[in-house]
Amino acid sequence: MIRNLIKFKYTAGTGGIGRSLSRYYCTNSGSNREQYDVVIVGGGLVGSAMACSLGSSPNTAHLKVALIEGAPIQSVQETIVSPVPDIRTISFNQQTIQLFKDIGAWDIIKSTNRVNPFTQVRVWDTSGFGGVHFGSSSNDIASMDTLEQEYMGYIIENKVVTASLLERAKSLPNITVRSPLSVQSLENYDINQQAASTSTAGSLPIVRLKDNSEISAKLIIGADGGNSVLKKQLGISSMGKSYNQKAVVCTLKLGVDQCDSLYQRFLTTGPIALLPLAGGYANIIWSTNNLHANYLLELDDESFLQQVKHSFLSGDKPSSTDFLGQLFNNYINLNPTNLSGNELYLPPIESLVSKRASFPLRTDHTFEYTHSRLCFIGDASHLVHPMAGQGVNLGMADVKSLSKKIGESVRSGYDIGDSMMLKTFEEERKTENMKMMLSIDTLFNIFNNNTLPMVAMRNFGMSFLNHITPLKKIIVDVSKGKKIF
Ligand SMILES: Cc1cc2nc3c(=O)[nH]c(=O)nc-3n(C[C@H](O)[C@H](O)[C@H](O)COP(=O)(O)OP(=O)(O)OC[C@H]3O[C@@H](n4cnc5c(N)ncnc54)[C@H](O)[C@@H]3O)c2cc1C
Repeated sequence: MIRNLIKFKYTAGTGGIGRSLSRYYCTNSGSNREQYDVVIVGGGLVGSAMACSLGSSPNTAHLKVALIEGAPIQSVQETIVSPVPDIRTISFNQQTIQLFKDIGAWDIIKSTNRVNPFTQVRVWDTSGFGGVHFGSSSNDIASMDTLEQEYMGYIIENKVVTASLLERAKSLPNITVRSPLSVQSLENYDINQQAASTSTAGSLPIVRLKDNSEISAKLIIGADGGNSVLKKQLGISSMGKSYNQKAVVCTLKLGVDQCDSLYQRFLTTGPIALLPLAGGYANIIWSTNNLHANYLLELDDESFLQQVKHSFLSGDKPSSTDFLGQLFNNYINLNPTNLSGNELYLPPIESLVSKRASFPLRTDHTFEYTHSRLCFIGDASHLVHPMAGQGVNLGMADVKSLSKKIGESVRSGYDIGDSMMLKTFEEERKTENMKMMLSIDTLFNIFNNNTLPMVAMRNFGMSFLNHITPLKKIIVDVSKGKKIF
């Protein structure tokens, strides 16, 4: 058996401390094992942003990083061949957009002309009079002066952003993107072994790929999504629940060339949202119980379109199952104002221009994001209901935090797989992620309860909120990704 001695030289970049660190790795040249500093498993939105971040920061730009993506990668050009936007879109908040700028991906994303900023959000409840308008316009009850001219976020297709991030990652000299190639298993790794005392080749975890090749690395970052294979294989536990709902998604053509408002209406079965897209299109995300979702998916296009229009505009009595609710529902019209499209500034909906698809909705939170030499980010560690448009934004905040911690480790001469450093990342992000997850779950429960007292309370709450500008500003700041508490 021939043994190879490979030397990696660590030189801190311009922002570093100007010190060079050396690590010596032994490898068995009989195997085709490559050695990296970091392996990122999953090149979705979060994994590819992580790679760009490590490649763009002066502290980490010398680290040898492999990004492994199981699915084939589309070029940016391929994602915009069709003028009709894809059915998967995301509302990106200001903090995420800032990250895209920092890692050099924003110009690529913008160059596609598929970016639609929005300045207003209109939320209202089907079972009553309550509604909230976030944003500034002549129709706002109290002008939110500090928000003038500020975008609340941007709606962009997932695949456009992913392709842009991957293009940026490929252009960075320290990043190697391998795709389509799945990670099959993590070997030479014991999750209970706490201390990463050595970084010799023999002690490092080994990622086995589908083509049977191997990569060893000092740090493995799991960004392999909500059905993380890595987590399953390692038996890492999490806590979660199914909402017994599906999100039915599709693309519509609007009767206007441009729309800068995001609309969300809470129906008795769940929320329906209209996300405005560039070019006068819009994305529908209709979260509803499984039975209703299946019904919506089976409808012909014309009937489905009618359902969408109806769900935004019609009055709809709550279907209470309790005695009081049923009694009152028979006598009281709970939608006295019966808001019309004009009052809501809802753009005219012209046609359905895509197929429909659905996604099961659940929430899930991994108990431990990190172990020695291993760390999970994005949906792999936390899944939320899409009604607040926060899932990937939380993942991008993970990227920012983890990149910073890795950079600090490099600057201080620590091992980047050190469990103590990873724990500081976990502590920082877990608190924020859990706060958002609990808020979204509470919101879900409030709007999923159609008993009369709850309907009355939430309508009162929304009307009250709509008149309290400072409170609205706090909510807008949170949705933009700012830390309030
Ligand atoms: C209907 C809907 C609407 C949403 N809207 C919003 C929104 O408006 N705003 C928002 O912030 N969030 C939103 N989300 C949430 C958002 O889509 C997710 O949070 C985000 O896609 C998660 O990104 P990720 O990179 O962590 O995971 P994923 O997107 O799941 O990516 C994981 C990647 O890993 C790859 N992979 C998996 N296993 C392996 C393996 N073994 N080897 C190699 N590669 C592997 C996969 O191919 C994939 O590319 C929405 C979600 C849904 C369902």
